[in-house]
Amino acid sequence: MGPEVERFEERLAKYCGRRFCIGVASGSDALYLALRAAGIGPGCEVITTPLSWIATLNAIVMTGATARFADVRDDLNLDPDTLAREITPATRAIVPVHFNGRLCDMEPILAIARRHDILVIEDAAQSVGARYNSIPAGGFGQAAAFSLNPMKILAGYGEAGAVVTDDEGLRDKLVALRYLGTVDKEICHYLALNAKLDELQAAMMLVSFDYLEANIEHRLALAQRYSERLKGIVRCPRPLAPGDRSSVFFDYQIVAENRDALRRFLAQQGIETKIKHPILMPDQPAHTSLPRPEIPVARYLIEHILSLPLHEKMKPADVDCVAENVEAFYRDQE
Ligand SMILES: *Cc1c(COP(=O)(O)O)cnc(C)c1O
Repeated sequence: MGPEVERFEERLAKYCGRRFCIGVASGSDALYLALRAAGIGPGCEVITTPLSWIATLNAIVMTGATARFADVRDDLNLDPDTLAREITPATRAIVPVHFNGRLCDMEPILAIARRHDILVIEDAAQSVGARYNSIPAGGFGQAAAFSLNPMKILAGYGEAGAVVTDDEGLRDKLVALRYLGTVDKEICHYLALNAKLDELQAAMMLVSFDYLEANIEHRLALAQRYSERLKGIVRCPRPLAPGDRSSVFFDYQIVAENRDALRRFLAQQGIETKIKHPILMPDQPAHTSLPRPEIPVARYLIEHILSLPLHEKMKPADVDCVAENVEAFYRDQE
């Protein structure tokens, strides 16, 4: 936690339009500690989406809070209508996940939170650099968690994460929580483990930052190309008009009939795809004690989503190759 960490924190805070950034050891730590700093714990209910990496749910449950689930919409993000129905007198926070790098429909979510006086803590792990009504990912709720692991768009060279917030009280508590709950590095006020951001990761991420905008632009161009090639064949993510940055395409995720056969066919052609993630969070073995949520849209999507290759090192011709093979698969089905 030397000068590189401080420089990185300043840079990420500024990029998100926030007053403070607190570097931590991972995105999981970022979300867990943000929730704890905000006072989430036993007796609190927290509403989130069923469709995310399991880190989201584990972070909520590990605070001692009870997780509840709203359904998602066609954009794979929280559905504000089903969200409103899940609110109870015990609800203390909403954790929207900007899945695949696409920002949630934040206006109605924030309106619900205001109406019921509950917190919004964003899981912005996949969405660094996205903007909605000119507000950047991480700029909406009381606090937002970023993952900066090597798979993410702004990547360290190992595990890393960060919380951003405008709230000075939250900042102070997070600074303590990331280092065993200590104030002035010696007096332990809270029960917590070590979740410091490594100086080396911060230095490397400062370098990654210089390439971030170019990387995102490249991703958007590849995604656009996929959408042009695949529209009418599979359900594609909503394309973005020029200048629209409401997604940074952490993933190019399609919704496809015969998904598993398509996946096998593409694998035979040497094209790797992924299902992110094949098990809905509430269906994971570690969470069987949670009540079964009513989430028909998520249950449909989990059988049909498929992530096609999309990363900074791909060229337009690579996208064409994948798209041609997807086309060929559905031609053969007719
Ligand atoms: C990656 C990720 C996390 C966890 O981040 P780590 O740095 O791997 O701990 C949390 N939520 C989402 C949505 C993620 O994609």
